[in-house]
Amino acid sequence: MNLPDDILIVGLGTTGIATARFLSRLGKRITLVDEKHEKDLAPALKALDGVPFTGRFGPHRQEDFLGHPMIVLSPGIDSEHPYLKEARAAGIKVIGEMELAYTFLETPVIAITGTNGKTTVTTLMGEIFTKAYGDVFVGGNIGDPLVNYLLSGAGAGYVIIEVSSFQLETIETFRPDAAILLNVTEDHLDRYRSFAEYRDAKYRIFENQRPEDYAILNTSLPPLGGIRARKLCFSTERGLEEGAFLKDGTMYVRLEGKEYRHERAVSPLVGIHNTENLLVALLTAYIHGIKGEVIEDVIKTFTGLSHRIEPVRRINGITFYNDSKATNVDSTRRALESIGGSVVLIAGGKDKGGSYRVIGDQMPKVRSLILIGEGAERIREELGSYTKTYMEGDLAGAVSRAVEVAQKGDVVLFSPMCSSFDMFKDYKDRGNRFRALVEAL
Ligand code: ADP
Repeated sequence: MNLPDDILIVGLGTTGIATARFLSRLGKRITLVDEKHEKDLAPALKALDGVPFTGRFGPHRQEDFLGHPMIVLSPGIDSEHPYLKEARAAGIKVIGEMELAYTFLETPVIAITGTNGKTTVTTLMGEIFTKAYGDVFVGGNIGDPLVNYLLSGAGAGYVIIEVSSFQLETIETFRPDAAILLNVTEDHLDRYRSFAEYRDAKYRIFENQRPEDYAILNTSLPPLGGIRARKLCFSTERGLEEGAFLKDGTMYVRLEGKEYRHERAVSPLVGIHNTENLLVALLTAYIHGIKGEVIEDVIKTFTGLSHRIEPVRRINGITFYNDSKATNVDSTRRALESIGGSVVLIAGGKDKGGSYRVIGDQMPKVRSLILIGEGAERIREELGSYTKTYMEGDLAGAVSRAVEVAQKGDVVLFSPMCSSFDMFKDYKDRGNRFRALVEAL
């Protein structure tokens, strides 16, 4: 990509900082804007020590967005901001950090998107590829921005990145060698005007692929036209002639006339959703020539990530699970499906506008529903009629209530269906708080 000499970077988080470092290395003149005030940006500004730039902080100003021939966005920035629309209309190039980094990349890229499971699959696959091939860059939306890979010398054999719908909104040429779409269910309806708009952003992961690339999809997705890459599917519901599937407790991969098998039970991960995650990892690994023994070694020991259906403690026959990363309805559905017996469900947080009613079929196993946060009222309206429902002022109140209503043999599941930003810094902060409250019981 031909970069102009003068570039605006929007957002001064981890990604903005890395982007500024990278562009400054290329000798570009950089302007950085962030809506936060300068005093709140002290650590970020310190991280940019030695990087020459002009900073414009506080409420966005139109002239900043119209004053540079190119704008690079951090992943959290809404690409539909009115100033960005004006910039595009004025012929200014607006791209995301991932697109920028991609144009400099010579390493094969495996990209993972979907509503849920991205981090689990990216991490699991990262472990398998690292064991097989040594140096692999694992990052993207998961934490380490792609541009950091360039800064570190870009010497890995593979780049495995988690990609969000927001990042896909600002691609132009991004073309993964293998693109994976895990699932698409309702989420982020506070940001998108409709479910279709959100889904279409996810589908963009395939848009620049060519016949020599791979597109890996869940069979449960609606048929998707326009895919030019070699299409391979995975399914937990039916056998496939090519692709990956589960049958009678065995995971199969069928590729180019060969068949590979792994017992599902070798993995400690629970739930059908994790079977899907495993199938994707197996399929992608076999496509890239990784041996069965290497894959088996990793899936046997990969116990999953914190805050995702994570067992915390068992007290008086009641088991507590932290699923703080369940920030939408389908992730909570998956947790309920994975857990046997009666459940005391603690939910609520910042409402994103989707329907909660869709998990009505899971409610018979919910003994009590305990709600907190901004979304509590709407969840009560949609699910309150199914079971005894309590409204609590905070997480501590919710945990005490759970202890009061749970019976021996029950599971207390904290699976919020909402994001955390109404009461917590992020989902980790929320999960850690839950864990601490349970530890203190
Ligand atoms: P993401 O990075 O897409 O948010 P995570 O791996 O962090 O995905 O998991 C987020 C939530 O979704 C957790 O509650 C987890 O239990 C659940 N989950 C994980 N994999 C899947 C899947 N394949 N389908 C549905 N839910 C999933």
